[in-house]
Amino acid sequence: MASNGALDARERDAILGRLAAERFDVLVIGGGITGAGAALDAASRGLRVALVEARDLASGTSSRSSKLIHGGLRYLEQFDFKLVYEALRERDLLVSRLAPHLVRPVSFLYPLYKKVVERPYVGAGLVLYDAMEGTRRPVPHHRHLSARGALKRAPALSPDRLAGAMLYYDAQVDDARHTLTVTRTAAAHGAVVATRVSAVGLLRSADGERVSGARVRDEETGRHFEVSAEAVVVCAGVWTDLVHELAGVRAGYRVRMSKGVHVVVPRAAVDASTGMIVRTDKSVLFFIPWGDHWIVGTTDTDWSGDRAEPKPTEEDIAYILAAANRVLARPLTRADVIAVYAGLRPLVDPGEPNGVRQSGAKQSGAKQSGAKQSGAKQSGAKPTTKLSREHVVDVPVPGLASIAGGKFTTYRLMARDVIDAAVAGLGRDVPGSVTDQVPLLGADGLAAVQPAAGRLAEDYGVPRAAVEHLLGRYGTLARDVLGLIEADPGLARPLAPGHPYLRAEVAYAVACEDALHVEDVLMRRTRLFIESADSGVSVAADVAAIMGRLLGWSRRRRAAETRRYLDLIEAERAVPAAVPASVPASGPAPGLALAAGR
Ligand SMILES: Cc1cc2nc3c(=O)[nH]c(=O)nc-3n(C[C@H](O)[C@H](O)[C@H](O)COP(=O)(O)OP(=O)(O)OC[C@H]3O[C@@H](n4cnc5c(N)ncnc54)[C@H](O)[C@@H]3O)c2cc1C
Repeated sequence: MASNGALDARERDAILGRLAAERFDVLVIGGGITGAGAALDAASRGLRVALVEARDLASGTSSRSSKLIHGGLRYLEQFDFKLVYEALRERDLLVSRLAPHLVRPVSFLYPLYKKVVERPYVGAGLVLYDAMEGTRRPVPHHRHLSARGALKRAPALSPDRLAGAMLYYDAQVDDARHTLTVTRTAAAHGAVVATRVSAVGLLRSADGERVSGARVRDEETGRHFEVSAEAVVVCAGVWTDLVHELAGVRAGYRVRMSKGVHVVVPRAAVDASTGMIVRTDKSVLFFIPWGDHWIVGTTDTDWSGDRAEPKPTEEDIAYILAAANRVLARPLTRADVIAVYAGLRPLVDPGEPNGVRQSGAKQSGAKQSGAKQSGAKQSGAKPTTKLSREHVVDVPVPGLASIAGGKFTTYRLMARDVIDAAVAGLGRDVPGSVTDQVPLLGADGLAAVQPAAGRLAEDYGVPRAAVEHLLGRYGTLARDVLGLIEADPGLARPLAPGHPYLRAEVAYAVACEDALHVEDVLMRRTRLFIESADSGVSVAADVAAIMGRLLGWSRRRRAAETRRYLDLIEAERAVPAAVPASVPASGPAPGLALAAGR
């Protein structure tokens, strides 16, 4: 165990050896935010934990969200008070204590167009939203603005019919980096983590009564082996039903996939000094400030295609642009869009049977799955925008606990609940969750490192802005990233012109963040995939060269890894007008998805 939780890609063989040789208390399947949280929750209770992720950490939904840590103003309208209350508490805990380096307050302007009706309605909602916070407020109270005040903060808004605005605060995060940091924190507490390892079958105890581990496949070599564990915890997001099928069980719920698309436009395309949220016919649209860009979205539509590669369509993009242009003075055009990405919400189908514990449940005792499942009950016509974002936990068979639904914001509570359910079946006392007292790696001592930014910049010969950028992504671990420059001064150079990333971050991604391929670096360790107009293509070969030096890649392998990324981007950029009619009704099993690409 490394004390800084380093996930060193060069030690992968040793990690796989440990997975095969040791017996674990808990095996977590899935390395999105839920699985990362579950691994941390279990490891920080003193349990022996393993986590397997079929692709890369956060490569599923957890790198494709709106990147907000929020209560969810619109859930108030759905009377989901408990969800909003819990999410606001989590938001404040993350901003103030657990991850102040990663989770930052952000303001949102809510323009009002119906003077008499809207202001009292939205205002009352925001009073409630603010009141649900604790007494120690890490983010400011909401404010009322006149139309003039609104235009001062957001000159991009069309003044037509604008009657005023509300300004309120939430928080934002780099979702992939947060997931990685939670995983590393779990590793620092002893969790054994392996990526590109898929669970392809579940093991049973000798009497067949319990799940006792998983048969897994190393997706890099195709080699199969077994991981044994007293409890298996399924945190597989939209793949959850498929993992249940591996065990031959049907859980008390099914997952309904809802696709959400975002577009990325340059910051200059929308003149505003605050984020914005506007109403649409179906839901709301966010303008989220993201460095030199805006992330604008999202959509919310049913999806039944490939789970690994949800496709945005021109129709989705047109919907977002039209919704944005209803409030903008200068319309956004297709040419403003530099990137598009889609993610799948793993929503719990409300049409499913009882016996499933809703969020907050702490005990096991779920019944056997067969009794609870009514078959593929149709969810009816309820639109996905109306489905609850609460989570459910189930124990469909002894030794197997699973979770679905929820939000990124509430991952810590989800993790607590599913680990509670898993350990209840272990037949021994296990301490309760302590993750509300476990700051993520990089958080402790942040206040003392931030003032040293100028000195660190001088010491390592990099611009101060680069150090500040590192502090905002790695917290106190920024010193470790900078430390790599001592051995190789070339790593002090920027990775891509016009972007804040240093080459050192690529080397660090291999040495400490388990980056195995170029796409891991360009899509998730950095976010050049969505932040650069060429999706990072022009630096793919440089990334392969830096990675290759550490991983011992031949020239041929470097070229192949570069090509792999270029092919991936070519496929990503092929945006269909609408979803092709031939899309299969259900996505391939995780391992098969990998064989197809990433
Ligand atoms: C468009 C959109 C916007 C959103 N915005 C927000 C927001 O702003 N704020 C918020 O709080 N929430 C938001 N959410 C919700 C949030 O992103 C998700 O709830 C969360 O990321 C789900 O995480 P997860 O770990 O459950 O799933 P995932 O991140 O999908 O992780 C599941 C993982 O399991 C792995 N896996 C699957 N099968 C196997 C197997 N057999 N073996 C090994 N591994 C396997 C997958 O590869 C995957 O990495 C948004 C969601 C979407 C789609």
